[in-house]
Amino acid sequence: MVITRVWLDETENECTMCGACEAVCDSVFEVPEKMIIKEDADFSLVDEIKEAADSCPVATIAIEFDNSGNRDYPV
Ligand code: SF4
Repeated sequence: MVITRVWLDETENECTMCGACEAVCDSVFEVPEKMIIKEDADFSLVDEIKEAADSCPVATIAIEFDNSGNRDYPV
């Protein structure tokens, strides 16, 4: 599986700007205010990106695999 998109999904909750995602994977996530994805983010860091999503206390990090068009992780 290849990560094709990572985004801030505030459908249900808002990013609290806690910085947990950046602490886990600072080559992909940045939290200047709300979380943003770095322009040169390396989506090959699958385990780290999934760990960052798992660390988010409000589940606002969404990951798409293989251009599915869906939020595939976390479900
Ligand atoms: S871990 Fe979640 S709530 Fe915290 S800064 Fe990152 S996206 Fe926002």
